[in-house]
Amino acid sequence: MIFLNGKYLSKDDAKISVMDRGFLFGDGVYEVIPVYQKKIFSLEEHLQRLHANLQELDITNPYDNSEWENIFTEIIKHSSFEQEAIYLQVTRGVMNTRTHYQENLYPTVFVESNKISNRDNNEIYAGYSAITEKDERWSKCHIKSISLLANVLSIKNAKKNNVEEVIFIRDGVITEGASSNVFIVKNNQVFTHPKNNLILPGITREISIRILQDLNIEVFENSFTEEEMMSADEIWITSSTREILPITSVNSKKIQSGKAGPLWEKVYLSYQSIKNG
Ligand code: PMP
Repeated sequence: MIFLNGKYLSKDDAKISVMDRGFLFGDGVYEVIPVYQKKIFSLEEHLQRLHANLQELDITNPYDNSEWENIFTEIIKHSSFEQEAIYLQVTRGVMNTRTHYQENLYPTVFVESNKISNRDNNEIYAGYSAITEKDERWSKCHIKSISLLANVLSIKNAKKNNVEEVIFIRDGVITEGASSNVFIVKNNQVFTHPKNNLILPGITREISIRILQDLNIEVFENSFTEEEMMSADEIWITSSTREILPITSVNSKKIQSGKAGPLWEKVYLSYQSIKNG
């Protein structure tokens, strides 16, 4: 069951207009919110980011937080997944005539839930591979825009190269992954790109920083170069659906011993205990 513009429907019955600005211009934003054993994880943070995004686009948030929560709860009630991710999308709405900008439309709202597959523990501890690419996205990467063509092309390359993630480099600096934030560890200090227009302010990034602070591990929101990443002790990526994953090889080169690191494990285990409540 999905939610579309106030109605709960089966996916096959859900239809939108060809004049929807999401379809014609990619004019909208989205969120992905993890749900574990039917409990919505970090709901407030995701709704806060959604609200900030809608404000920046001048789209009126169609629902308040409790209305959003009711929609999600209804969707989850009808799903049969142990772990799932709510996907929600709000577009500026439907026009009469195709025109680059039009105000005062009714936002189109779509909500569904998708299964999060369980990763094998041995696989996680073995670590994942990544490749680097020039960050050719626009300069408003803090908006969780549904216009994701640059990311799509990079993820296509990731699939072709059989790697978990593409890590973006802009002006010599690591920004983030094609669908994750990136952390490195050097001499027991942790670094991640500062929150600005060049990265998505990931909720998992925020939670990881909080965990590190609670563990008294030094964490800096400072950028780092590709060379610094390649010689780092550990690399991690974070996202709502992938949690915190160790990257042990980049561009076919092993990172140190090529094994998941001890700080990653600490943060990962803390995250597991938080998520299991
Ligand atoms: N950066 C990008 C470009 C992403 O697409 C995502 C995941 N949607 C993230 C970072 C991680 O964000 P979050 O932790 O909120 O899932």
